Amino acid sequence: MQIRTDGLIIKEKLVSEDDKLVTILTRNFGIIRAFAQSVKNLKNKNFSSTQLLCYSDFIIFKGRNKYIINESYSKHSFWSLRCNIEKLALAQYFCDLILNLIAEEQHHTEDILRLILNSLYYLSKEKIVPKLLKSTFEMRILSMSGYMPNLIYCSNCKDSGKKNFYFVPEVHGIVCDKCIRNYRAVKIKLTESVLYALRYSVYSEFNKMFAFSLKLERQDELSAITESYILKCLEKNLKTLDFYKQVVIN
Ligand SMILES: [Zn+2]
Repeated sequence: MQIRTDGLIIKEKLVSEDDKLVTILTRNFGIIRAFAQSVKNLKNKNFSSTQLLCYSDFIIFKGRNKYIINESYSKHSFWSLRCNIEKLALAQYFCDLILNLIAEEQHHTEDILRLILNSLYYLSKEKIVPKLLKSTFEMRILSMSGYMPNLIYCSNCKDSGKKNFYFVPEVHGIVCDKCIRNYRAVKIKLTESVLYALRYSVYSEFNKMFAFSLKLERQDELSAITESYILKCLEKNLKTLDFYKQVVIN
């Protein structure tokens, strides 16, 4: 049978001299791994539309145990991301997070596709500071894949009226300064503006999620928190994150 969908190429791997296996985050069919044949040939009609980070329309043949791309048409290539190592590294880290958090052929990936397309667009157009974009993406993708943290009240005494909170990855949320003594796990003190930024990235409406600002000196604080939460939920370090940190300029 044939399926038609749009999607973003989030991984590519050469499987022979001429063919590659691409991983596509589709709108309607979850994550699909499909063969793209003869795509190293520049004249091939699927050459540009099956490149990493290309957002395309696909017509895919679904066999008994494999998918093969019949036709594909590029809608947006995010080409500019390839010309900047820092942006490319961040884009690849976003793709890696999706690969690690979203099960293959899990349906309802429309919002996740929207999240990464928006993020890549903002990254390519430099509309948002990369560090804030990264933290927001991290919190949002975790929330969308079953790890939504509690950022409203103390995870221990349930009090929401306290002034001072700590972020504790272990409990997937915040703990007040009175209860924090009981926690030996990793804990990071939250300033008011960072707690606000965290809440914003997790709970705001989709089209407003990037619309907050944070002082430069607080951005590292936010980043430390979101990375600690990524580490807790994934239970491993991602090489793409290590690479991004190596190439990042500020
Ligand atoms: Zn408490």
